[in-house]
Amino acid sequence: MYQVKEKLHEVLSRLPEGVRLVAISKYHPADYILAAYEEGQRVFGESHEQELRDKHTALPKDIEWHFIGHLQTNKVKYIVPYISMIEAVDSLKLLWEIQKQAAKSGRMVKVLLELHIAEEATKYGLTLDACRELLAGGEWRQMANVQICGLMMMASNTDDEAQIEREFQVAADFFDEVKAQYFPADSAFCERSWGMSDDYHLAVRHRSTMVRIGTSIFGPRVY
Ligand SMILES: *Cc1c(COP(=O)(O)O)cnc(C)c1O
Repeated sequence: MYQVKEKLHEVLSRLPEGVRLVAISKYHPADYILAAYEEGQRVFGESHEQELRDKHTALPKDIEWHFIGHLQTNKVKYIVPYISMIEAVDSLKLLWEIQKQAAKSGRMVKVLLELHIAEEATKYGLTLDACRELLAGGEWRQMANVQICGLMMMASNTDDEAQIEREFQVAADFFDEVKAQYFPADSAFCERSWGMSDDYHLAVRHRSTMVRIGTSIFGPRVY
């Protein structure tokens, strides 16, 4: 097996205190996840509903699953009963569907709002203005079963480290804006999910609280 245990500890040793690891296990087999689990890792991220469902069924029930992919509204009902956090919420419609299904399940579901800051046109997420608009609209305040815990974003896929750092800083500054305006007394709104295998060393300089790392732990994905 790929050196999952060694790689996991290597990554963990590089994370400053206060930064949590979400081990991104998409496309990797269950025994890779178990190898990390045996070392104490409990938070894993997946991006496809069916794959997540299979792994959730097969693996220990104290794993905290994060959904990190683009989530279609018709899939929400399948993950809400057990998901720990839905990281990539990028529309009011999706937020309402999570609320509806969470109410049905009698759960409180944690979510992050996904920002689109990177230059790539293909990335999902809310522009800063769209995110401002969503929060200003206030409908989220009526969602008793949804807890907005912070922001998530992906930086541009580029070798230009200065650009990546600029994007992380935009996200960090935007977090402060939103926190001050909408969540000043809400201690649950505290998460800044940025940083992946290639750029987490930069993300932690820009106040990431949660890094999503796959390749550096599990090796290259086989699609
Ligand atoms: C796949 C994925 C990651 C992990 O990427 P690596 O480069 O393998 O660390 C992180 N975040 C999201 C949203 C992903 O889809």
